[in-house]
Amino acid sequence: MVGPRPLTPDAGGDPACWANRVCPECGAFSADGYHRHGCPVAAGSEGMVASIEAVKADITELAVDAVVNAANSALAMGGGVDGAIHRAAGVRDLTAACAALGGCATGDAKATPGFALPARWIIHAVGPVWHGGDHGEAELLASCYRRSVEVADEIGARSVAFPAISTGVYGFPGDLAAEIAVGTLQDLETSVERVLLVAFDDHTLDRYQRLLRHPGPR
Ligand code: ADP
Repeated sequence: MVGPRPLTPDAGGDPACWANRVCPECGAFSADGYHRHGCPVAAGSEGMVASIEAVKADITELAVDAVVNAANSALAMGGGVDGAIHRAAGVRDLTAACAALGGCATGDAKATPGFALPARWIIHAVGPVWHGGDHGEAELLASCYRRSVEVADEIGARSVAFPAISTGVYGFPGDLAAEIAVGTLQDLETSVERVLLVAFDDHTLDRYQRLLRHPGPR
């Protein structure tokens, strides 16, 4: 995964020398000799996500560092949560930013600014279309959550809100999708501190809450 980057390759010199120093690139303090893309610097090492919560909300209204979008591989404006995010962020700005990214493979994720959203960033993750379960759908959905968190680390986002990726038009069964979301996020090493699993209906909220009360084996 993409972890913290040592100061050395960017700044030159021995990494040990940069511990407890100020990053020469961005001026922020680094206690451990590492800074992250998207300074200000985060000192300290990666761990598990400290807080994973389920909420029922419109994801476009959440004041988190990054919201994840259930995007399509063209990163073109679609319906569902993608349409809602485009409208709330500003269709013209977000369409132009997405076009510059040149698409995104299924299971991968790419970031744009949040424009008019309360969130600073949008992480566009492309979930799999459900074709019955024998086409790597589960692995691809897990990859969406993993890659989104990696991108969040790259841009320095500490709080990230996820919609129930692939469970709308893409037809992924909700129970399995929720298990994959919670199981994947609970296992990641990351600097993200807070994850919100955003449900748009009571059924999805209930699924997340049950899984978070009774986490499965790691
Ligand atoms: P996909 O094409 O990946 O299936 P959809 O947008 O169709 O994506 O649906 C993904 C999930 O997002 C669904 O559970 C849907 O209910 C939910 N959703 C739709 N609009 C919003 C919104 N504004 N905020 C949060 N979740 C939403």
